[in-house]
Amino acid sequence: MNILVINSGSSSLKYQLYNMNDESVLAKGLVERIGMDSSILTHKPTGKQDVTEVSEILEHNTAIRKVLACLTDKEHGVLASIDEINAVGHRVVHGGEFFKASALVDADTKTKIRQLFDLAPLHNPAAMMGITATEVNMPGVPQVVVFDTAFHQTMPEKAFMYAIPRVLYNKYKVRRYGAHGTSHDFVSKAAAEYLERPLEDLKIITCHIGNGGSVTAVQGGISVDTSMGMTPLEGLMMGTRSGDLDPAIVPYVMNKEELSVGEVNSMLNKHSGLLAISGISSDMRDIEAGAEKGDPNSTLAYDMYEYRLRKYIGSYTAAMNGVDVIVFTAGVGENSSKLREKVLKNLTFLGIELDEEANKVRSGDPRRITTVNSKVQVLVVPTNEELVIARDTNRIVQGING
Ligand code: ADP
Repeated sequence: MNILVINSGSSSLKYQLYNMNDESVLAKGLVERIGMDSSILTHKPTGKQDVTEVSEILEHNTAIRKVLACLTDKEHGVLASIDEINAVGHRVVHGGEFFKASALVDADTKTKIRQLFDLAPLHNPAAMMGITATEVNMPGVPQVVVFDTAFHQTMPEKAFMYAIPRVLYNKYKVRRYGAHGTSHDFVSKAAAEYLERPLEDLKIITCHIGNGGSVTAVQGGISVDTSMGMTPLEGLMMGTRSGDLDPAIVPYVMNKEELSVGEVNSMLNKHSGLLAISGISSDMRDIEAGAEKGDPNSTLAYDMYEYRLRKYIGSYTAAMNGVDVIVFTAGVGENSSKLREKVLKNLTFLGIELDEEANKVRSGDPRRITTVNSKVQVLVVPTNEELVIARDTNRIVQGING
Protein backbone atom coordinates (compact mmCIF):
# COMPACT_ATOMS: atom_id res chain seq x y z
CA MET A 1 0.00 0.00 0.00
CA ASN A 2 1.61 3.29 -1.16
CA ILE A 3 0.12 6.53 0.07
CA LEU A 4 0.87 10.00 -1.20
CA VAL A 5 0.47 12.74 1.43
CA ILE A 6 -0.18 16.22 0.09
CA ASN A 7 -0.10 19.53 1.94
CA SER A 8 -1.24 22.29 -0.41
CA GLY A 9 -0.74 25.94 0.43
CA SER A 10 -1.87 28.81 -1.74
CA SER A 11 1.47 28.96 -3.58
CA SER A 12 3.16 25.76 -2.45
CA LEU A 13 2.61 22.02 -2.40
CA LYS A 14 4.50 19.63 -0.14
CA TYR A 15 4.38 15.89 -0.71
CA GLN A 16 5.59 12.69 0.88
CA LEU A 17 5.16 9.19 -0.50
CA TYR A 18 4.89 6.35 2.03
CA ASN A 19 5.13 2.62 1.69
CA MET A 20 2.69 1.65 4.43
CA ASN A 21 3.99 -1.90 4.72
CA ASP A 22 6.85 -0.56 6.82
CA GLU A 23 5.87 3.15 6.97
CA SER A 24 9.03 4.04 5.05
CA VAL A 25 9.28 7.28 3.07
CA LEU A 26 9.92 6.53 -0.62
CA ALA A 27 10.23 10.17 -1.63
CA LYS A 28 9.32 13.65 -0.51
CA GLY A 29 9.47 17.10 -1.95
CA LEU A 30 8.10 20.55 -2.37
CA VAL A 31 6.79 22.79 -5.14
CA GLU A 32 7.24 26.47 -4.30
CA ARG A 33 6.11 29.69 -5.98
CA ILE A 34 3.11 28.15 -7.74
CA GLY A 35 1.51 30.84 -9.91
CA MET A 36 4.84 32.49 -10.70
CA ASP A 37 7.02 31.99 -13.75
CA SER A 38 9.97 30.55 -11.88
CA SER A 39 8.39 27.87 -9.72
CA ILE A 40 10.78 25.51 -7.97
CA LEU A 41 10.23 21.79 -7.58
CA THR A 42 12.55 20.02 -5.15
CA HIS A 43 12.25 16.24 -5.28
CA LYS A 44 14.01 14.03 -2.73
CA PRO A 45 13.81 10.33 -3.57
CA THR A 46 15.09 8.08 -0.77
CA GLY A 47 18.47 6.60 -1.66
CA LYS A 48 18.80 8.63 -4.86
CA GLN A 49 20.08 12.04 -5.84
CA ASP A 50 17.85 15.06 -5.03
CA VAL A 51 16.52 16.99 -8.03
CA THR A 52 15.61 20.67 -8.36
CA GLU A 53 13.66 21.93 -11.36
CA VAL A 54 12.77 25.54 -12.09
CA SER A 55 9.87 26.02 -14.50
CA GLU A 56 6.55 27.80 -14.92
CA ILE A 57 3.91 26.16 -12.74
CA LEU A 58 0.79 28.31 -12.84
CA GLU A 59 -1.61 26.18 -10.83
CA HIS A 60 -1.87 23.15 -8.55
CA ASN A 61 -2.95 20.91 -11.40
CA THR A 62 0.40 21.35 -13.13
CA ALA A 63 2.21 21.03 -9.79
CA ILE A 64 0.65 17.60 -9.14
CA ARG A 65 1.34 16.50 -12.72
CA LYS A 66 5.00 17.40 -12.29
CA VAL A 67 5.21 15.67 -8.91
CA LEU A 68 3.71 12.49 -10.41
CA ALA A 69 6.18 12.72 -13.30
CA CYS A 70 9.06 12.96 -10.79
CA LEU A 71 7.77 10.01 -8.77
CA THR A 72 7.67 7.83 -11.89
CA ASP A 73 10.74 9.24 -13.66
CA LYS A 74 13.21 6.60 -14.95
CA GLU A 75 16.18 8.19 -13.20
CA HIS A 76 14.96 9.84 -10.02
CA GLY A 77 11.59 8.16 -9.70
CA VAL A 78 10.62 5.60 -7.09
CA LEU A 79 7.60 4.00 -8.77
CA ALA A 80 7.13 2.22 -12.12
CA SER A 81 3.74 3.84 -12.63
CA ILE A 82 1.21 6.14 -10.93
CA ASP A 83 -1.02 3.10 -10.53
CA GLU A 84 1.23 2.08 -7.65
CA ILE A 85 -0.19 4.93 -5.57
CA ASN A 86 -3.19 3.41 -3.78
CA ALA A 87 -4.54 6.47 -2.02
CA VAL A 88 -3.88 10.14 -1.37
CA GLY A 89 -4.15 11.92 1.99
CA HIS A 90 -4.54 15.69 2.18
CA ARG A 91 -3.89 18.03 5.06
CA VAL A 92 -6.79 20.46 5.46
CA VAL A 93 -6.49 23.27 7.99
CA HIS A 94 -10.14 23.84 8.87
CA GLY A 95 -12.76 21.16 9.45
CA GLY A 96 -15.08 23.48 11.39
CA GLU A 97 -17.70 21.67 13.43
CA PHE A 98 -18.34 19.25 10.57
CA PHE A 99 -15.28 17.08 11.00
CA LYS A 100 -14.38 15.42 14.28
CA ALA A 101 -12.11 12.97 12.47
CA SER A 102 -10.47 12.38 9.11
CA ALA A 103 -12.85 11.64 6.23
CA LEU A 104 -13.02 10.10 2.78
CA VAL A 105 -13.33 12.70 0.01
CA ASP A 106 -16.76 12.56 -1.62
CA ALA A 107 -19.23 15.19 -2.83
CA ASP A 108 -20.49 15.89 0.69
CA THR A 109 -16.97 16.28 2.12
CA LYS A 110 -16.06 18.72 -0.65
CA THR A 111 -19.21 20.79 -0.08
CA LYS A 112 -18.39 21.08 3.63
CA ILE A 113 -14.76 22.06 3.00
CA ARG A 114 -16.05 24.76 0.64
CA GLN A 115 -18.51 25.99 3.26
CA LEU A 116 -15.52 26.55 5.54
CA PHE A 117 -13.65 28.80 3.10
CA ASP A 118 -14.76 31.84 5.13
CA LEU A 119 -13.17 30.51 8.30
CA ALA A 120 -9.84 29.69 6.64
CA PRO A 121 -9.67 31.93 3.57
CA LEU A 122 -5.99 31.27 2.89
CA HIS A 123 -5.88 27.58 3.66
CA ASN A 124 -9.05 25.71 2.76
CA PRO A 125 -9.26 26.95 -0.86
CA ALA A 126 -5.64 25.85 -1.33
CA ALA A 127 -6.42 22.39 0.04
CA MET A 128 -9.41 22.20 -2.29
CA MET A 129 -7.15 22.99 -5.24
CA GLY A 130 -4.95 20.07 -4.21
CA ILE A 131 -7.95 17.74 -3.98
CA THR A 132 -9.31 18.78 -7.39
CA ALA A 133 -5.88 18.51 -9.01
CA THR A 134 -5.49 15.00 -7.58
CA GLU A 135 -8.90 13.98 -8.91
CA VAL A 136 -7.98 15.21 -12.38
CA ASN A 137 -4.58 13.53 -12.46
CA MET A 138 -5.39 10.35 -10.57
CA PRO A 139 -9.03 9.58 -11.34
CA GLY A 140 -10.55 6.86 -9.20
CA VAL A 141 -7.81 6.91 -6.55
CA PRO A 142 -9.42 7.30 -3.10
CA GLN A 143 -8.59 10.50 -1.26
CA VAL A 144 -8.79 11.22 2.46
CA VAL A 145 -8.77 14.58 4.24
CA VAL A 146 -7.11 15.05 7.63
CA PHE A 147 -8.02 18.23 9.52
CA ASP A 148 -5.85 20.37 11.81
CA THR A 149 -8.94 21.19 13.85
CA ALA A 150 -10.46 17.70 14.24
CA PHE A 151 -8.55 16.65 17.38
CA HIS A 152 -9.85 19.74 19.22
CA GLN A 153 -13.50 19.04 18.52
CA THR A 154 -13.66 17.32 21.91
CA MET A 155 -13.20 20.64 23.76
CA PRO A 156 -16.10 21.42 26.08
CA GLU A 157 -18.28 24.45 25.39
CA LYS A 158 -16.74 26.40 28.27
CA ALA A 159 -13.37 26.16 26.51
CA PHE A 160 -14.46 26.85 22.94
CA MET A 161 -17.02 29.63 23.39
CA TYR A 162 -16.01 33.30 23.39
CA ALA A 163 -17.79 35.65 25.79
CA ILE A 164 -19.39 37.68 23.00
CA PRO A 165 -23.02 37.77 21.78
CA ARG A 166 -24.22 34.23 21.11
CA VAL A 167 -25.73 35.28 17.83
CA LEU A 168 -22.20 35.41 16.38
CA TYR A 169 -21.77 31.73 17.15
CA ASN A 170 -25.23 30.85 15.89
CA LYS A 171 -24.86 32.80 12.65
CA TYR A 172 -21.17 32.51 11.83
CA LYS A 173 -19.82 29.76 14.09
CA VAL A 174 -17.44 32.16 15.80
CA ARG A 175 -15.72 29.96 18.40
CA ARG A 176 -12.34 28.41 19.26
CA TYR A 177 -11.28 25.64 16.86
CA GLY A 178 -7.54 25.38 17.52
CA ALA A 179 -4.94 24.02 15.12
CA HIS A 180 -1.95 21.63 14.89
CA GLY A 181 -4.41 18.96 16.07
CA THR A 182 -2.66 16.21 14.13
CA SER A 183 0.57 17.02 15.92
CA HIS A 184 -0.92 17.37 19.43
CA ASP A 185 -2.69 14.04 18.92
CA PHE A 186 0.46 12.30 17.67
CA VAL A 187 2.85 13.55 20.36
CA SER A 188 0.44 12.95 23.25
CA LYS A 189 -0.03 9.33 22.15
CA ALA A 190 3.71 8.93 21.59
CA ALA A 191 4.39 10.32 25.09
CA ALA A 192 2.07 7.79 26.75
CA GLU A 193 3.68 5.01 24.73
CA TYR A 194 7.17 6.17 25.68
CA LEU A 195 6.26 6.30 29.36
CA GLU A 196 4.41 2.97 29.06
CA ARG A 197 1.41 4.46 30.82
CA PRO A 198 -2.24 4.37 29.72
CA LEU A 199 -3.17 7.55 27.84
CA GLU A 200 -6.56 7.51 29.60
CA ASP A 201 -4.86 8.15 32.96
CA LEU A 202 -2.67 11.05 31.90
CA LYS A 203 -2.93 14.83 32.03
CA ILE A 204 -0.59 16.02 29.28
CA ILE A 205 0.31 19.51 28.10
CA THR A 206 1.65 19.47 24.56
CA CYS A 207 3.64 22.47 23.31
CA HIS A 208 3.88 22.54 19.51
CA ILE A 209 6.20 25.47 18.88
CA GLY A 210 7.52 26.14 15.41
CA ASN A 211 6.94 29.22 13.25
CA GLY A 212 3.37 29.01 14.47
CA GLY A 213 2.80 27.67 17.95
CA SER A 214 0.07 26.25 20.13
CA VAL A 215 -0.30 24.58 23.51
CA THR A 216 -2.95 21.95 24.20
CA ALA A 217 -4.33 20.41 27.37
CA VAL A 218 -4.83 16.70 26.65
CA GLN A 219 -6.74 14.90 29.38
CA GLY A 220 -7.31 11.17 29.03
CA GLY A 221 -6.23 11.35 25.39
CA ILE A 222 -8.61 14.08 24.31
CA SER A 223 -8.10 17.79 23.76
CA VAL A 224 -9.85 19.79 26.48
CA ASP A 225 -8.39 23.21 25.63
CA THR A 226 -5.97 24.72 23.17
CA SER A 227 -4.35 28.11 22.73
CA MET A 228 -5.18 28.85 19.10
CA GLY A 229 -8.63 30.24 18.56
CA MET A 230 -11.06 30.72 15.72
CA THR A 231 -7.92 31.33 13.67
CA PRO A 232 -4.24 30.51 14.31
CA LEU A 233 -3.60 34.06 15.54
CA GLU A 234 -4.63 33.59 19.16
CA GLY A 235 -2.49 32.20 21.95
CA LEU A 236 1.30 32.12 22.07
CA MET A 237 3.60 34.77 20.71
CA MET A 238 4.86 33.34 17.41
CA GLY A 239 7.41 34.07 14.68
CA THR A 240 5.35 36.80 13.01
CA ARG A 241 1.99 36.51 14.85
CA SER A 242 1.06 38.54 17.91
CA GLY A 243 -0.80 35.84 19.82
CA ASP A 244 -3.06 37.08 22.64
CA LEU A 245 -3.72 40.78 22.91
CA ASP A 246 -6.42 43.11 24.16
CA PRO A 247 -9.01 43.12 21.35
CA ALA A 248 -9.59 46.85 21.94
CA ILE A 249 -6.14 47.46 20.46
CA VAL A 250 -7.49 46.55 17.03
CA PRO A 251 -10.07 49.35 16.60
CA TYR A 252 -7.77 51.77 18.44
CA VAL A 253 -4.85 51.19 16.08
CA MET A 254 -7.10 51.07 13.02
CA ASN A 255 -8.44 54.46 13.99
CA LYS A 256 -5.10 56.07 14.83
CA GLU A 257 -3.21 54.73 11.84
CA GLU A 258 -6.17 54.71 9.42
CA LEU A 259 -5.66 51.02 8.71
CA SER A 260 -8.07 48.84 6.74
CA VAL A 261 -9.28 45.45 7.96
CA GLY A 262 -6.80 43.78 5.61
CA GLU A 263 -3.93 45.93 6.83
CA VAL A 264 -4.55 45.30 10.51
CA ASN A 265 -4.93 41.58 9.79
CA SER A 266 -1.62 41.58 8.00
CA MET A 267 0.03 43.55 10.83
CA LEU A 268 -1.06 41.00 13.44
CA ASN A 269 -0.31 37.90 11.34
CA LYS A 270 2.81 38.87 9.42
CA HIS A 271 4.50 41.80 11.14
CA SER A 272 4.18 41.00 14.83
CA GLY A 273 5.56 38.37 17.21
CA LEU A 274 9.31 37.75 17.48
CA LEU A 275 9.90 39.72 14.29
CA ALA A 276 8.24 42.87 15.60
CA ILE A 277 9.83 42.85 19.04
CA SER A 278 13.35 41.87 17.97
CA GLY A 279 13.28 44.01 14.85
CA ILE A 280 15.57 41.45 13.19
CA SER A 281 13.95 38.10 12.54
CA SER A 282 11.05 35.73 13.10
CA ASP A 283 13.45 32.80 13.39
CA MET A 284 14.16 31.62 16.92
CA ARG A 285 17.77 30.80 16.00
CA ASP A 286 18.42 34.48 15.19
CA ILE A 287 16.65 35.61 18.35
CA GLU A 288 18.71 33.27 20.52
CA ALA A 289 21.91 34.45 18.84
CA GLY A 290 20.88 38.10 19.28
CA ALA A 291 20.02 37.57 22.96
CA GLU A 292 23.34 35.83 23.55
CA LYS A 293 25.18 38.82 22.12
CA GLY A 294 23.26 41.05 24.49
CA ASP A 295 20.98 42.75 21.94
CA PRO A 296 18.21 44.24 24.13
CA ASN A 297 15.41 43.80 21.56
CA SER A 298 16.23 40.13 20.95
CA THR A 299 16.45 39.60 24.70
CA LEU A 300 13.01 41.11 25.23
CA ALA A 301 11.55 39.06 22.35
CA TYR A 302 13.03 35.89 23.85
CA ASP A 303 11.83 36.69 27.36
CA MET A 304 8.30 37.50 26.19
CA TYR A 305 8.13 34.31 24.14
CA GLU A 306 9.24 32.15 27.06
CA TYR A 307 7.05 33.97 29.60
CA ARG A 308 3.92 33.61 27.54
CA LEU A 309 4.56 29.92 26.85
CA ARG A 310 5.14 29.31 30.56
CA LYS A 311 1.91 31.11 31.46
CA TYR A 312 -0.05 28.80 29.13
CA ILE A 313 1.52 25.76 30.77
CA GLY A 314 0.46 27.15 34.15
CA SER A 315 -3.00 27.90 32.88
CA TYR A 316 -3.56 24.42 31.46
CA THR A 317 -2.24 22.85 34.65
CA ALA A 318 -5.06 24.72 36.39
CA ALA A 319 -7.54 23.75 33.65
CA MET A 320 -6.86 20.04 34.28
CA ASN A 321 -6.21 20.41 38.03
CA GLY A 322 -2.75 18.97 37.51
CA VAL A 323 -0.28 17.80 34.92
CA ASP A 324 1.62 14.52 34.59
CA VAL A 325 3.54 15.13 31.39
CA ILE A 326 4.70 18.14 29.38
CA VAL A 327 5.74 17.55 25.78
CA PHE A 328 7.83 19.83 23.56
CA THR A 329 7.62 19.43 19.80
CA ALA A 330 8.06 21.17 16.38
CA GLY A 331 11.01 23.33 15.20
CA VAL A 332 11.62 25.33 18.37
CA GLY A 333 10.30 22.72 20.82
CA GLU A 334 12.47 19.93 19.40
CA ASN A 335 15.63 21.94 18.85
CA SER A 336 15.96 24.72 21.37
CA SER A 337 17.37 23.20 24.55
CA LYS A 338 17.87 26.76 25.85
CA LEU A 339 14.21 27.68 25.59
CA ARG A 340 13.14 24.41 27.20
CA GLU A 341 15.60 25.00 30.03
CA LYS A 342 14.38 28.54 30.61
CA VAL A 343 10.75 27.45 30.72
CA LEU A 344 11.35 24.46 32.98
CA LYS A 345 13.66 26.23 35.44
CA ASN A 346 10.81 28.62 36.07
CA LEU A 347 8.33 25.82 36.72
CA THR A 348 10.03 24.28 39.73
CA PHE A 349 6.87 24.96 41.80
CA LEU A 350 5.33 22.06 39.87
CA GLY A 351 8.05 19.76 41.14
CA ILE A 352 9.82 19.69 37.78
CA GLU A 353 13.46 18.66 37.93
CA LEU A 354 15.29 19.21 34.68
CA ASP A 355 18.00 16.74 33.67
CA GLU A 356 20.35 19.27 32.08
CA GLU A 357 22.46 16.70 30.24
CA ALA A 358 19.45 14.88 28.82
CA ASN A 359 18.01 18.22 27.72
CA LYS A 360 21.10 18.85 25.57
CA VAL A 361 20.96 15.51 23.73
CA ARG A 362 19.84 15.78 20.10
CA SER A 363 17.92 12.87 18.68
CA GLY A 364 15.10 12.10 16.31
CA ASP A 365 13.42 9.88 18.92
CA PRO A 366 11.15 10.69 21.86
CA ARG A 367 13.20 11.31 25.00
CA ARG A 368 12.81 12.34 28.63
CA ILE A 369 14.54 15.52 29.81
CA THR A 370 13.60 15.41 33.48
CA THR A 371 15.15 13.37 36.31
CA VAL A 372 13.49 10.18 37.52
CA ASN A 373 12.40 12.03 40.68
CA SER A 374 10.70 14.84 38.80
CA LYS A 375 7.01 15.05 39.76
CA VAL A 376 6.12 15.98 36.20
CA GLN A 377 7.77 14.13 33.33
CA VAL A 378 8.92 16.35 30.48
CA LEU A 379 9.55 14.82 27.07
CA VAL A 380 10.79 16.00 23.70
CA VAL A 381 8.81 14.16 21.01
CA PRO A 382 9.56 14.86 17.34
CA THR A 383 6.26 15.41 15.57
CA ASN A 384 5.34 13.69 12.32
CA GLU A 385 2.13 15.10 10.89
CA GLU A 386 2.67 13.48 7.49
CA LEU A 387 2.84 10.03 9.04
CA VAL A 388 -0.44 10.62 10.87
CA ILE A 389 -2.06 11.66 7.59
CA ALA A 390 -0.69 8.55 5.88
CA ARG A 391 -1.91 6.31 8.72
CA ASP A 392 -5.39 7.86 8.76
CA THR A 393 -5.62 7.58 4.99
CA ASN A 394 -4.54 3.95 5.13
CA ARG A 395 -7.05 3.14 7.89
CA ILE A 396 -9.96 4.83 6.15
CA VAL A 397 -9.20 3.37 2.73
CA GLN A 398 -8.69 -0.14 4.15
CA GLY A 399 -12.01 0.29 5.93
CA ILE A 400 -13.76 0.93 2.64
CA ASN A 401 -12.01 -1.87 0.83
CA GLY A 402 -12.64 -4.25 3.66
P1 ADP B 1 6.45 25.43 10.86
O1 ADP B 1 5.59 26.03 11.93
O2 ADP B 1 6.65 26.32 9.68
O3 ADP B 1 6.14 23.99 10.54
P2 ADP B 1 8.81 24.37 12.18
O4 ADP B 1 8.09 23.50 13.14
O5 ADP B 1 9.67 23.74 11.15
O6 ADP B 1 7.88 25.44 11.51
O7 ADP B 1 9.71 25.36 13.07
C1 ADP B 1 10.51 26.32 12.44
C2 ADP B 1 11.20 27.15 13.48
O8 ADP B 1 11.97 26.30 14.35
C3 ADP B 1 12.21 28.10 12.88
O9 ADP B 1 11.65 29.31 12.55
C4 ADP B 1 13.21 28.26 13.99
O10 ADP B 1 12.85 29.42 14.71
C5 ADP B 1 13.02 27.08 14.90
N1 ADP B 1 14.25 26.31 15.03
C6 ADP B 1 14.74 25.34 14.21
N2 ADP B 1 15.92 24.87 14.66
C7 ADP B 1 16.19 25.55 15.80
C8 ADP B 1 17.27 25.54 16.75
N3 ADP B 1 18.31 24.71 16.61
N4 ADP B 1 17.20 26.37 17.79
C9 ADP B 1 16.17 27.21 17.95
N5 ADP B 1 15.12 27.28 17.10
C10 ADP B 1 15.13 26.47 16.04
